[in-house]
Amino acid sequence: RTILHWFRSKELRAEDNRALMAASRKSKEASAPLVTCFLFSPKDMEWHGTSPVRVDFTLETLRLLQSQLKEMNIPLAILTAESRGDKGPVMLNFLKKHNISHMFANLEYEVDEMRRDISLFERLESDGMDTAFHLFHDQSVVEPGTMKGGAGTPQKVFTPYYKHWLDKVAKEPELLDTEGLPEANDKEVTTKFKDLFDSSIPSLPKSKPFASEEERKRLRKLWPAGHAAAKKRLDDFLKNKASTYKTNRSTPAADNSSRLSPYFSAGVLSVREALSAASEADGRAPGTFDGDAGIASWVREIVFREFYRQRLVGTPHDSMNLPHNLKFDYVRWEDDGEGWRRWCEGATGVPFVDAGMRQLRHEGWMHNRLRMNTASYLRTNLLIDYRRGERFFAETLVDWDLSNNHQGWEPSYTVFNPVVQAEKCDPDGDYIRKWVPELKDVEGKAVFDPYHRLDKKEFEKLGYPKPHVDFKESRQRCIERYKQDMAEA
Ligand code: FAD
Repeated sequence: RTILHWFRSKELRAEDNRALMAASRKSKEASAPLVTCFLFSPKDMEWHGTSPVRVDFTLETLRLLQSQLKEMNIPLAILTAESRGDKGPVMLNFLKKHNISHMFANLEYEVDEMRRDISLFERLESDGMDTAFHLFHDQSVVEPGTMKGGAGTPQKVFTPYYKHWLDKVAKEPELLDTEGLPEANDKEVTTKFKDLFDSSIPSLPKSKPFASEEERKRLRKLWPAGHAAAKKRLDDFLKNKASTYKTNRSTPAADNSSRLSPYFSAGVLSVREALSAASEADGRAPGTFDGDAGIASWVREIVFREFYRQRLVGTPHDSMNLPHNLKFDYVRWEDDGEGWRRWCEGATGVPFVDAGMRQLRHEGWMHNRLRMNTASYLRTNLLIDYRRGERFFAETLVDWDLSNNHQGWEPSYTVFNPVVQAEKCDPDGDYIRKWVPELKDVEGKAVFDPYHRLDKKEFEKLGYPKPHVDFKESRQRCIERYKQDMAEA
């Protein structure tokens, strides 16, 4: 019989992969060959709105993974489910055809993905199949849902979660232990599973076009696929940027963050591998990452990612297009077509917001500080349903991650003032001038708010739009609307 590892789209790597390693051990123990598969579902990608740059990144990573595994005589078969409902039957056919005795996979925590796994368990039983299906936690260092507070329920507030996380990792440093690569199959497997070795990587679906081939090449260069590229980026970050991360992390012009988010969200690099390397570079034991050193504040961001996964598991409606605080579902949002168009295009007339949106469109990525500001501007000043922005990010980002994105978009009463934010985080205006070329020659503080800080004639010469809404008025409108609608909820 045969052992199967089923790769999901959040763990596209052979290195330090919990379920894959368990499958490899089983394969040795049972003297049975190990095969792997990936279930490609273009309809799933349409459903989630996954961006072309992310789909291309996924396919390129799969291509590299397939040739890496081939070197170990392990096939990576690409199965295709045309419709979302086909996923179960496609998997079952594969299990039967290849006489799979054990199937291994890593858990995905979103509700649809959990339901997919549950229905597969049920189908295995109802079809009288004896395939054992084993699921593993792989996406985070600490298993989501297990970090409990005094009341015995999963912690819901970040700071106590963070402290608890550090304490746990200090006491159980083995949580950061990494595993290597699976063991190779015997050579004859290559003949036995020839059809699986011949499986080719699909091309980019027509529903996910790039503007041009140039555009695709440019983005591939910016986000090179595969584990080796991720490792190189990690090493470069630890060597050259980590020590200044704390001071610069909110300064987008410094571009000093790791830019590892696509690799974490597609699981091209495990967080365990990244944190072990960070600990080695920092010379401190894992778990003692708190304090002032640059690396500590970077680790804190990774813990944010873990915290969001814990919340996703604890609040299933977070992955069902509903706000974490359900009262926000009662807000009557504005139907402002012009505001929406201007936000998407980076033409709101607010330089910091426009710079962020233009970076997003050009790079498929946006600095965290700008994600916060552009999201706040849409859901508060424009008072447009935050879910439209959340979806737009999914359709554009290379690092789209439902958990981080959804929780980053979570509505609240906080209204960022993008002019004050720009003055603080982009004090020389370099980030704005880079991304909004209409303002490149604007001197001094006028660059933060040219409509109000330049005289009328000078402003008109710029060819830059005036603000679509007045900041103070729109802030007031938002707070009143939220209060009123949530009180009625
Ligand atoms: P670094 O600063 O180098 O941080 C290292 C890693 O920590 C990141 O790669 C990421 O995995 C994690 N991380 C950093 N900041 C956060 C954060 N605020 N919340 C959770 N995890 C974090 N992140 C995504 O990965 N995918 C998304 O779709 C996404 N959407 C977002 C939407 C909004 C509205 C907001 C406010 C934030 C969103 N984030 C998202 C979180 C954050 O902006 C990005 O993870 C970060 O900017 C990625 O850059 P980096 O890899 O250089 O991060």
